[in-house]
Amino acid sequence: MPIYEFKCPNGTVTEKFVKMGTKEIECPKCHQKAKKLISLCTFELKGGGWYADGYSSGKKKI
Ligand SMILES: [Zn+2]
Repeated sequence: MPIYEFKCPNGTVTEKFVKMGTKEIECPKCHQKAKKLISLCTFELKGGGWYADGYSSGKKKI
């Protein structure tokens, strides 16, 4: 199971083991929704819909 990184609105990045398809978690610090980041080292080319339907609304903001 891959490690994903999640980033909350406050900018806190949390690494967590989650199931494939998990889109967001609760930030352990501020308890807001933290959205999944795509990490180069854990990215898997599996195709499928999780990327398209899960990430399209959350394009990265820097
Ligand atoms: Zn937070």
